[in-house]
Amino acid sequence: MIKETAIERELIEKIKELKEKKGYTILGHNYVISELQDLSDITGDSLQLARLATEIENDKILFLGVDFMAETLKILNPSKKIIVPTKGSTCPMANSLTPEIIKSFKEKYPNAPVVLYVNSTAECKALADYTCTSANAVEIVSKIDSDTILFGPDKNLGSYVAEKTGKKIIPIPGETGYCYVHNRFSVEDVRKAKEKYPNAKIIVHPESSKEVRDLCEYIGSTGQMMKFPKEDETEEFIIGTEIGMIHKLPKTFKDKKFYPLKELGICNNMKKNNLKNVYEALLNEENEINLPEEIIEKAKIPIMNMFKLMEG
Ligand code: SF4
Repeated sequence: MIKETAIERELIEKIKELKEKKGYTILGHNYVISELQDLSDITGDSLQLARLATEIENDKILFLGVDFMAETLKILNPSKKIIVPTKGSTCPMANSLTPEIIKSFKEKYPNAPVVLYVNSTAECKALADYTCTSANAVEIVSKIDSDTILFGPDKNLGSYVAEKTGKKIIPIPGETGYCYVHNRFSVEDVRKAKEKYPNAKIIVHPESSKEVRDLCEYIGSTGQMMKFPKEDETEEFIIGTEIGMIHKLPKTFKDKKFYPLKELGICNNMKKNNLKNVYEALLNEENEINLPEEIIEKAKIPIMNMFKLMEG
């Protein structure tokens, strides 16, 4: 357990006071720092947060994560005020795909539906047929009535979906689309971790490379990772995802042990959210997420298509 300093404790108290006084609900992704996870009313993965976004009654939300997630919240809640601690928390993988790239692939493959991982910008979502998350990508693609799919921006998740569905997945933007945090896990890391913790099962995120996935016992989104230790008798797990999960898992499963696959599994962008900028954002109610109406309308369609397929 990380001990907070006196300054941090003071900030935490001030944040709690401001949140109550100004009436904000705080939503935090599983990858934000542990102090912010503890301050959040709800923590979850992209899918959990996207779904919850449609159910929150409060019209003021402080979102802790990266920009494409805050945009998704805004798309699903256009009338709500959504603020973030910093506008600088972005996702290089989401940014690797642009509307121009999607348009050029659509021209080349006019009959292939476009499925975009929610880790994409609102402008790109506005050009997609469906969105998906790492938790439901296999389900969504298998339910679409087409054998060829344009899938982006994560080539690793795309290859996982191809493996599981048997469909032809054309990755967009291609080799440049990956999450640097998950793509960094190597076969050597898995070998070393297995040597160090011989009784542990290795769980990795589908954003990891195929070589790494093939050596692991379980592949799942962070939401699915939160369920697996309950279903499995094993007492020790090596976790191959962003280090933030090493805070959440032991809190939930107190009798089990969790080790990071690699200490360097850190998303620097998520870590740009900190106590100081959370406090300032609440104090000044600043860094509001705004999107053009047209983008909101268009980007909502593939998200709702995802929800429909999940219900069907
Ligand atoms: S963990 Fe990877 S996909 Fe998620 S926000 Fe960070 S860089 Fe993007």
